Amino acid sequence: MIAGIDLGTTHSLVGVMESGFPVLIADAEGRRLTPSAVWFPEEGEPVVGWAALEKKATHPAQVVTSVKRLIGRRVGETASSSPGCAVEAGPDGELRVLVGGRSLRPEEISAIILSELKTDLEQSCGVPVNQAVITVPAYFNDAQRAATKRAGELAGFTVERILSEPTAAALAYGLDRLGERAKVAVYDLGGGTFDVSVLELNCGVFEVLSTNGDTSLGGDDLDVALSKIWNLSRFDAEKIKRALTDAESIEFDGRTYHRSDLETACLPIIEKTRRHCLRSLSDAHLETSALDAVVLVGGATRMPVVRKFVTEIFGREPDVSQHPDEAVALGATIQAGILEGGLQNLTLLDVTPLSLGIETFGGLMNVIIPRNTTIPCKAGEMFTNAVANQSAMSITVLQGEREMARDNWPLGRMDVAFPPAPKGHARVGVQFELDANGILHVLARDTSTGLDTVINIQSAVEVSDEAVEKMLGDSLEHAFEDMDERIFTEAKLKADEMLPAVDSALEALGDEVTAEIRSAISDLVQKIRVAPKNLDDRPNFWSAAECSSWRISG
Ligand code: ADP
Ligand code: MG
Repeated sequence: MIAGIDLGTTHSLVGVMESGFPVLIADAEGRRLTPSAVWFPEEGEPVVGWAALEKKATHPAQVVTSVKRLIGRRVGETASSSPGCAVEAGPDGELRVLVGGRSLRPEEISAIILSELKTDLEQSCGVPVNQAVITVPAYFNDAQRAATKRAGELAGFTVERILSEPTAAALAYGLDRLGERAKVAVYDLGGGTFDVSVLELNCGVFEVLSTNGDTSLGGDDLDVALSKIWNLSRFDAEKIKRALTDAESIEFDGRTYHRSDLETACLPIIEKTRRHCLRSLSDAHLETSALDAVVLVGGATRMPVVRKFVTEIFGREPDVSQHPDEAVALGATIQAGILEGGLQNLTLLDVTPLSLGIETFGGLMNVIIPRNTTIPCKAGEMFTNAVANQSAMSITVLQGEREMARDNWPLGRMDVAFPPAPKGHARVGVQFELDANGILHVLARDTSTGLDTVINIQSAVEVSDEAVEKMLGDSLEHAFEDMDERIFTEAKLKADEMLPAVDSALEALGDEVTAEIRSAISDLVQKIRVAPKNLDDRPNFWSAAECSSWRISG
């Protein structure tokens, strides 16, 4: 497994590919964002995340935030001052951060954040993860990239790739949604930095055509402006700013705050991003009309005023299909998946041409993965034994669109043994996993023993187009008779199950059932007993609807 990591200025996130999907890891409280803050207490180990951020107010000299602004920089570089962080030149002339009585290189602090993410990840997936893809801003130079890589190594990772954040965001947007040659603008307004990049996708490979921005412009500046107009602490101003993303106005401490006031105060700051956008487009020699998509990244792009502004600048609605603060991490995870080999060809994201399922009681087809599901995918269902003291279940894996098992194509067969159990007591979970290569892995688990039986079926999606056409055609042509037979079969199975249950219930209840009700039930039971056992013996006037109502009324 390879981790995908967004090591952000304000927040960091980590994800991994799980059965073909990028999944971001939540901490014990269910939060996927980890503040990029480290607290160095007088005694004991450094603390990362929300707990560290809380200490910032009371112990500012012990907490480092925004260390990303310092990583890979030399003393005296303009951007190397970060609020609340004292820096000095180390014996080797390198930049060091003074915090909690210690003197540390920025990458050592980033390494502590990365270690925390590594621990969260390993706890969540239960295995060690020693490889990672880490993202950096597109404008990071070699020294900043190298220092980020060292941070990863200090945290115990082999860093498989340093990936540009806009590239990651574009990957998350989806290669499958873009053409062979597509151009994408990524507008990233984070906590403390703004950058905009124009990328070109060419046969599955992204190239950054231009990047522009301001390393001291972000959501933090909005907080400062708002704290002034509202006369509040920055902490409260930020809280209200977030709330006004969803609400037009809110009440806080007996006062009402309006989104319109926020927008008036924020617009001049957001306006500053305009020239970077125009510059980025002109550097890429593009008109806005040449763009195929505009992707928003960074927590601050959640704000309606930012979205309106971006729409105006680029002359099109930006894509808001994903969480702006998760896009980079998702893209890093997808890149990790590509490197793992599971996602060799993202542009060829495929779908299953035909449904996959298993044969169940009465010879019915039970679909587990419906046709046209995007692969890779995973799905499952729980089954039980139809007969008492049965001690094995034979599972036939089928492909096709017909209601009856015999009309579909058998792909394979497996026997699952379980301890003899009364009817309906065995619990066998069947899981289908169709990987990116179109190989179907079928796993059957007896939940009482935890024993697994697995078969792998190579040919699952290797069906010729003509065969698929024929199967679909047949399923349409036989739709009515197929449905009839399914309904009849299900009703018969239900009857087989209900009749003995009715007998034993009547016996158990004895006198509690009045003679009147007893005879009404007997009449119904008798009707069912003499009902036809085979579909062919069925009188013509028996419509499917009748069978079905019989089934429903039990
Ligand atoms: P970074 O990439 O720098 O780590 P993020 O993408 O996490 O930054 O963005 C952090 C910024 O997003 C902060 O300024 C935060 O206040 C802002 N933010 C997060 N959620 C919202 C929201 N719902 N509305 C407005 N701003 C938000
Ligand atoms: Mg970011």
